[in-house]
Amino acid sequence: MKPADVQHPTSTFVTDRGLSVRWLGTAGFELIAPDGTTLLIDPYLTRVGLWDYLTKPIAPSVEKINAGIGRADAILVGHSHFDHVMDVPVIARQSGARVIGSVSTANLMQAQSLPAHQIVQLDKHRRTTLEVGPFRITAIPSLHSPFALGKKVPYAGDIPCTCDIHLRGSGYRCGDVFSFLIEVDGFRMYHLGSANLAEDQIPVEARDVDLLLMCIAARFATPKFVTRALAATTPRTVLPMHYDFMWRSADKPMRLLPRTDFGRLVDEVQGFSRGMSVLTLPLTARRPTPHDHPATPSPAR
Ligand SMILES: [Zn+2]
Repeated sequence: MKPADVQHPTSTFVTDRGLSVRWLGTAGFELIAPDGTTLLIDPYLTRVGLWDYLTKPIAPSVEKINAGIGRADAILVGHSHFDHVMDVPVIARQSGARVIGSVSTANLMQAQSLPAHQIVQLDKHRRTTLEVGPFRITAIPSLHSPFALGKKVPYAGDIPCTCDIHLRGSGYRCGDVFSFLIEVDGFRMYHLGSANLAEDQIPVEARDVDLLLMCIAARFATPKFVTRALAATTPRTVLPMHYDFMWRSADKPMRLLPRTDFGRLVDEVQGFSRGMSVLTLPLTARRPTPHDHPATPSPAR
C-alpha cells in the first residue's frame, strides 16, 4: 500500500461547510475558511536539495513560496526545525500574517526583523487559545520524535535570540514543540507535526476530532506512537503527512522518506478502529486555481 492508493482525487478537499484543506508537503498545510481567512501550519515550500542542506547555509526560495501559497492571516509553527520554520519569515513579511510559535520561532522572526506585533510567542508550560477570524486555535505543549542516535531529538535546544539569519540546516534547533487543535464552524482537526505526543497535555476537547493531521516520519522512535495518537484524538479520518522526501522539489514525482512503511500505518489505523478512514492529499508545487477542480466533498463525517 502506498499513499497514492488512498489519495483524495484533487489537491484540496473542502468540507461540507466550505473549509478547504491543502497539503503543502512535509507537515505543511493551508486552511482556508469560507470567509477567506487563511491559516498556514508549518509551511515549507522551498525544499532545499540535500547537498545544499549538508554543505552550506540554506535560505528560502521566494519564487517557490509565491508559486505555492498566497494570502495568509496567521502561521502556526509546531517547532523550529528548518522544514517547519525556514520559509515563515518570508511568508510573514509578504503577507503581514501573525506568526504563532515557540521562543525559538520568535527569536528567528526577530532576527529577521519581523515587527513585534506579528510575533506571538507561546508558553511551553501551558495551552494557549487564540482566535484568527473564524478559527479557534489551541496550541498544546507536545514532543518531538527522538529519532537521532541515542534516542535523542535531533538538533535539540533553542535558536538563540541573537541568531545569524544565514543558518545551516543544523542551526534550526528544534525548540519547544506544540501540536494544534483547530476548530472552525463545528469542524475540528488536530495537527501533530512530529511523531510524538504528550497525552497529559491534550485536552478532552481534542477527543473525537474530525481530522487528525498526523506526522508519520520517524514514528518508530516513539513507542506505540500511532495507537497513542489515535487514542488521544479518536479521529474520524486520519490524514498522514511528513512522509515525502523533503529534499526533493515538489515539481518532481514524490519520493517517500525511508522507513515510511505506509501499509503498516494503514493496518494500525484499521486495527485500532474499522470506522476510521485514512486519506492522503497529493503534493503539488503550485496553488490550485478555480479552474483546476471544483469544490469536492469532505471525507465522510
Ligand atoms: Zn522536526
